[in-house]
This record gives sequence, structure tokens and C-alpha cells, in this order.
Amino acid sequence: MKFNATLENITTYEAGKPIELVVREFGIEPKNIIKLASNENPFGCSLKVKEAVSDILSKMALYPDDSMFKLKDALGKRYEVKTENLIIGSGSDQVIEFAIHAKASPTAKILMNSITFAMYEIYAKHVGASVIRTTSQEHDLEQFYALYLEHKPEMIFLCTPNNPTGDAIDAKKLFEFLAKIDADTLVVVDGAYMEYAISKDETKKVEPKELIEKFENVLYLGTFSKAYGLGGMRIGYGIANPKIIKELYKLRPPFNITTLSLEAATIALSDEEFVQKSIIHNFEQMKRYEEFANSKKIDIIESYTNFVTLCFSDTLNSTKIANQLLRQGMIVRDLSSYKMNAIRVTVGTPEQNTRFFDLIKDFI
Ligand SMILES: *Cc1c(COP(=O)(O)O)cnc(C)c1O
Repeated sequence: MKFNATLENITTYEAGKPIELVVREFGIEPKNIIKLASNENPFGCSLKVKEAVSDILSKMALYPDDSMFKLKDALGKRYEVKTENLIIGSGSDQVIEFAIHAKASPTAKILMNSITFAMYEIYAKHVGASVIRTTSQEHDLEQFYALYLEHKPEMIFLCTPNNPTGDAIDAKKLFEFLAKIDADTLVVVDGAYMEYAISKDETKKVEPKELIEKFENVLYLGTFSKAYGLGGMRIGYGIANPKIIKELYKLRPPFNITTLSLEAATIALSDEEFVQKSIIHNFEQMKRYEEFANSKKIDIIESYTNFVTLCFSDTLNSTKIANQLLRQGMIVRDLSSYKMNAIRVTVGTPEQNTRFFDLIKDFI
């Protein structure tokens, strides 16, 4: 059977391996498996969320509130933006999908960093758009601007902090860059790890309110999957000028967010203490990774997120190391598909991190 030709050169997104798979493939008991592969919060989510969602179970028969009023109200207060500036997606992933489908035609060009979140390219290919990439590992906004002038792309993706490398763009430079971009170019600023970056370094702080007030062509993305510990709920959001939001809404399937996820996200926003504790813990534990890497002469990229990227020299092979760890029940992310000889490791609980250091010592 012939399918849409645009699908021919798409490789399916490879998600972090789930614990269930390691149980099946290696016969390891779930309690002996540690997953540090998908940048989830190792402490789970706020206790308040756990309490609140159990009340929701009685409402399961009814469709969700498709206006998403409670969550939009809470997000609006958090970011000082209006309901009309918001769209909620099944993960911010879905908002990326809406944005590309809304803006990019088959002849469109989409500019992004050399190494960045893989879904941008996959959705770009859905619509047949071509992807233009910079060459530097970190976001180099001068290079972005040169490529922008050369190709006049319909869309630009900026991921700060960036996944899978953990580095972040200086906020001042970001604003200067945006000021030079034509209002007809849609610029997506993906802040999936912004909560972490803000806590580490104020100069990386990008405020959605300021962003959308200054630029009507910018879409900011946030997610509940990382710092808020709700990866399994699949919920994220976009913040932009109402004109952009209105177009994205045309692509949104009705009831794209479950009642359970809406409630969990709303309550999660009310427990800032949980998030702040998680973030403090994250950077405390990250120091252990830095010390480990330094002592073993492994390159570690300075990270503004909840993961670290360990880059190996030619004598080591990231795929091999990731597989060796996997057989011991330790799931990390091999970055060979990004053409990096590196692994990405989510900062876990103190015990999980200790286990990681113990295991990897044998392979390096
Ligand atoms: C995790 C992540 C997302 C999206 O996560 P969702 O679970 O779909 O909300 C988006 N961008 C980046 C860079 C990410 O790392």
C-alpha cells in the first residue's frame, strides 16, 4: 500500500525505554530498575495532586471541561497572561504539532539548532517542510540570524534550556534576536526546563508575559512533564498572542486533555513548594555528576535542566555503555541518534544516582 510520501523519510521518535520493557527483556524485577532516561521528576509529583485526583475518579463517565477553565485560570495567574493567550496540549508536544501544522506549508523551511528536541523535525516532516539546522552544538543566535537571512524560514525553534544538551540561551540575547525577526515568522521558544534554568541562573530567565507582549509572532511552550512530575498525565501548554492561539485551536481535537490531567496540572501549579524542593535537590545532586565526570575525565555539558549530558572520548562508545547499563536495570538515554557519542542521564534521587555511579564505573 502507498502512504503519504512525506512519511517515507520519517524515523519514528524513540522514547526513553519504559521500565516495563526492561522487565520483559532482561527479566529484572521492577524494584531493581532505575529509569534516568526521560527527565522525569524522581520524587514523583506533589502529594496534593495525588489526593486531588482520587476525587476525580467519580467523574470519569463525563467528558472533561473542554474550556479548561480552572487550569487556564491558574496558568493565567501564574504567568500574568489572559485565557486567550493560552492553549493546552496533550503534552507540549501536541502544541508543537499544532504550531507546525498551523504555520508550515510543504514548501516551508523550519530553522532549528543542530542538536535539539527530535519532535520538531518529525512534525516538520509531517507537513513536508524542510529543516534547516545550525552547525554549533549550543544555540548560536548569530548563526541563527545568518541562516534566517539566507533562507527566510517560516518558523524558528529555539529550545532553552535545550534538550538533549542542557545548555540555555542568555535571555537578553534571545530578546535582541527576536527583535530582528520579521513578524510573519513564527518563533517557538520551548521552555520545557525553564523552571530549572531560572533557579540556577537569572540571566536565562525568559518570562512568557514579556515575550508575548513584545513579540506577537512568538509562541512560548511549557510542560507539566518535567519539574511538576506529571509526565504520565500528558499535559503542557502554549502561550502566545491570541491571533496565534486562535489558529492553533483550529487544529485541536475536542477534549484533548482528560479530566484527570486537567485536575492534576491545576493542583500541581498550586504546590510551588514541591517544585522548588525538587529543583534544589536536582542541582545539589547534579554536583555529584560533575564531580564524577571530572574525576573520570569525561566531558559534561553545563546543564540548566534536570539531566546531564556526558560526552565520551573515542575510546568509549555511548551505545555500548547505555546497553551495558540497561542489562543492569539502569535506563539512560544514548544520544548516538543525535550523532553524539554521549549519554543523557536524568538526575535522580540520591540513591539512584549512587547506583548509577557504581554501575558505570565498571564500563568506563
Ligand atoms: C519533554 C520535552 C517536551 C515535551 O514534553 P511533553 O511531555 O510533551 O509536555 C518539549 N520540549 C522539550 C525540549 C522537552 O524536553
